[in-house]
This record gives sequence, C-alpha cells and structure tokens, in this order.
Amino acid sequence: MTTEVFCNDKLAKEYIDNVFATLKAKNAHQLEFLQAVEEIFISLVPVFAQNPAYIQHNILSRIVEPDRIVSFRVAWQDDKNQVQVNRGFRVQYNNVIGPYKGGLRFHPTVNESIMKFLAFEQIFKNALTGQPIGGGKGGSDFNPKGKSDAEIMRFCQAFMTELYRYIGPDVDVPAGDIGVGAREVGYLWGQYKRIRGAYEAGVLTGKKPGYGGSLARKEATGYGLVYFVSEMLQEANQSFLNKTVVVSGSGNVAIYAIEKAQHFGAKVVACSDSAGYIYDPEGINLKVVKEIKELKGDRISTYLKYRPNAEYHEGCTGIWTIPCDIALPCATQNEINGESARKLISNGTKVVAEGANMPSDLEAINEFLAADILFGPGKAANAGGVAVSALEMAQNSGRNYWSFQEVDEKLHRIMKSIYAESKEAAEKYGYSGNLVVGSNIAGFIKVAEGMLAEGVY
Ligand code: GLU
Repeated sequence: MTTEVFCNDKLAKEYIDNVFATLKAKNAHQLEFLQAVEEIFISLVPVFAQNPAYIQHNILSRIVEPDRIVSFRVAWQDDKNQVQVNRGFRVQYNNVIGPYKGGLRFHPTVNESIMKFLAFEQIFKNALTGQPIGGGKGGSDFNPKGKSDAEIMRFCQAFMTELYRYIGPDVDVPAGDIGVGAREVGYLWGQYKRIRGAYEAGVLTGKKPGYGGSLARKEATGYGLVYFVSEMLQEANQSFLNKTVVVSGSGNVAIYAIEKAQHFGAKVVACSDSAGYIYDPEGINLKVVKEIKELKGDRISTYLKYRPNAEYHEGCTGIWTIPCDIALPCATQNEINGESARKLISNGTKVVAEGANMPSDLEAINEFLAADILFGPGKAANAGGVAVSALEMAQNSGRNYWSFQEVDEKLHRIMKSIYAESKEAAEKYGYSGNLVVGSNIAGFIKVAEGMLAEGVY
C-alpha cells in the first residue's frame, strides 16, 4: 500500500514537472504567468497521484493553454487632438464551468504575462465560488492616471469597439480590476449597447446600481475578504475585535476591507497607494480616505492635511514593517517578498490574507506557511468580487434587482463555503490547515471533472 502511494506520488510529480518544463520553455519570459502556474502545480501532486485519469487525459497540458488570446490595437484621441495608441488584450482561458469571466485591468504594466497569470488564477477562483463562471481576463497598458474624464470615455469606447466582437452575456463577461471601476464599466457598456443595438446587460458586471449593476458589488471583494478572514479567525477561537490591521492599497478592495474590519471592531492603522503609505496609530479615518480616493481621486499623502498626527512614508514596501496582528495586502501582485514576509513574522503578525491577486511571491508564501501564519490565498480570500459579479449576471438574466442585504447575505454564505471547501480539500489530501493547497485543489478538481465530462477537444 505504502509503495503504491509512493509510486503514484512519484509518477504524478514527474508528470507535473514535465508539463511545467515544457510550459517554461514556451513562455520563458512570462515570469508572472509561470509564478502563478508553479504555485498551483506544487499543490496538485497528491491530486494527480490519486486520479490517474487526469494524467491519461493530459488535463494539465490542456488547462495551461488558454482557449484563445486576443490582442488588439486601441487608437484614441487625447484632449490635444493627438492620436494615441495602446494595446488591448482579452485572454479567454477556460469556459468549462460557465462563460469566460474576469475583469479588465488598465495599467501601464499590463502585458501578456500579467494577463495570463490573472486569467489563469481566475479559472480556479471562479470555480471556488460555486457560481457558473469560467476564467478570463483582459485589459490594456493604457494609464488612466492624469487623464481627463473625456479621455477616459474615448479610450473606453475605442477599446470596446474592438472587444465587443469577442464577448457576450453567454460568451465572455468582463468587469473591473485595477484602473477600471464603475465609471469605466459604464462607458464600456454604453458603447457595447450602441454597437449591438440590444440591451444585453449581462455582458459586463460592475455596472452602477440602477443601470444594471448589483448592489454590494462595489463592496464585495473587501467585505468578502473580511468574511473569509473571520472564518479563519473563528477556527482559531479568535475574531477581529481589537486586532491591529494593516491594509495595503486604497482602491475598492482596500477601502471596503477597512470598512468591514472596522465594523467588526478592528483598528486599521495603515493603507497606501502606488506612491507611499500612511500610518495613523489612532486608527484610519475611512471617511477621509473615501473623500481622497473616491471623490477627489487624489494621492493618499493628502491624508495628512485632515489628520496631521498621522505619518506619510514614500514607497510601498515599508508598510509591511508596521507591527500588526493581521495583514491584508490589497494593492497588487508581488507586493510582499520574502524579506517583507520575514519582517511581518518577526513583528508578531498572525494572519495574512490576500485581497489583491498574487500579492505574495512564492518565497513569501513559503515563509508564512513555515511560520504557521494563518494564510488566506487570494484565489479563495478575494473571490467575493467575482462571486457578486455572478450574482449581478443572475439579476440581469432575471431582469430584477435584489436588495443590498440579500446580496450581502449571499456573499457571506459563499465566502463561508469557499473557506469550508478549501479547508476540507487540504485535510483530505494530507495538508491540514494549508489553505493554499486546499483552495488550489478544490478549484482545480471542479474544472478537471468538467473537462473529463466534456471529452477531449
Ligand atoms: N477583477 C476582479 C477579480 O480579480 C473581479 C472580476 C469580475 O468581477 O469579473 O476577481
């Protein structure tokens, strides 16, 4: 019996290593993509050891190759009548569970590697929600910072003029991500509607409530993150009450994570933007952060005008040197490296949960797991946003609206079940307490079973 398991483990590891080596050779320069794949592959050894059918059907080689990637030119006119050109993307990765689903990111760092890593993670995150959504992602290297409202509108219209032919309510449903919020989704939606000549509201999510959008969508990723962490804390007989929390970022995810953590009695002492971070030892005044970020679109450094006793520091990594019980990275990929992870651990942090996509690099994750930190990986912990996007699609299909409370309650239930499924999968495959392995396995198995059922194509 022992020999058999050992033999299967060895075979499974060999198979996974071979697929990864081929992938690496083909995508040598796509570092973020390879990082996201490696994290999942490491988790899957016991799954392949126990399910030889997955090897027979070569599920891994098939799942890492996107169904298709579309790349297109976006030409638009700025306020000085100059013609600008950006590159647009849509990665349609896997639609076994439902239409491709995932946000659009507008940020100068966007390239094929970033798009592929995000779309790949989205497959498993979306599967974990239990909602009927496949995995995709898109975006552009367009930089919205400093652009006028009219420029943003013209860019969104030009972007959609190309994208519309690849999407649809039953085909592929984009939403927001970094640099794309309700305003951008509104402009994208308006252009899609004009081109199609039909009111297909379910083609985009994250619309404004009252114009096809769902209540609680804006809050969903941040609230969902805090609901997920509450489950982790409850398991350890703890809660948010009186805990000191550091949250990086000050976008949608960070703001509503702060709001819910404060609601549960935590003291949030820091947040950041891409230029630097603020530290307010008395506790962040969220009204001020909302005014700076949601109303004025200003830098977080201006927080000091309202709260002179707070501190502002240039740069982003310093935020992880602030002592805290709970760290919630909600800014962007690879914002916590091994060194920052070690600093958090030596400062006594007990819980780290990811509101952003892949904010901890592989070294950081290994440090957290080795130190027995309660670690909530993004795929599970930040799935609340896309889960409520799926609820928005359901409301659009039913041509109705649910109340804030109804959506929030559904979100809460979904986050509890993602936690429970991840925990159970980790236990079943011999990695008790490891939510990285548990969420990867739970998400992967749903997709792999769907692929087996569909047959080879
Ligand atoms: N961009 C979000 C994510 O990373 C939400 C995607 C969506 O709502 O489709 O999951």
